[in-house]
Amino acid sequence: MTTLLNKNQTVGDSASKTDVGVLADVAALLRERGVSPTAQRVLIAAEFLLEPVHLCAEEIVESVCLSDRTVSRATVYNTLKCFVEHGLIRQVNVGADRVFYDSNVTPHHHIFDPESGNLTDVETSRVNIVGLPRLPEGREVESVEIVIRLKPPRE
Ligand SMILES: [Zn+2]
Repeated sequence: MTTLLNKNQTVGDSASKTDVGVLADVAALLRERGVSPTAQRVLIAAEFLLEPVHLCAEEIVESVCLSDRTVSRATVYNTLKCFVEHGLIRQVNVGADRVFYDSNVTPHHHIFDPESGNLTDVETSRVNIVGLPRLPEGREVESVEIVIRLKPPRE
């Protein structure tokens, strides 16, 4: 899986997302991707850094606002949009206005369990896609993303 950090930059298990060194690494990565690393952006990016995660905007708002009460909800939403546009994270829509932000930006599919709210990665090699519709003349498929939604378990 790919997160904001590549293999050579992986932070140790004991590292906290608020460690100065970790925040400096995040700032460097943002700069690398053409995103100006403001303190607030660094704080928000750090939410995605320590491991591959699927987070809802509100989870990020809660966590970031605990660290820094000056960060507004609007800043978090705007920053997430900026990160998606710069390919740092991807947005996964699981239906009914439920959106996750995924730090794994390599192609993969998902299983969503509305019961638990869990979103689980599925490698592309685990899914065969056949019978795609005919595409408009001269166009090619860029990606196909599947979200498998689970029914509630039977009683
Ligand atoms: Zn994912």
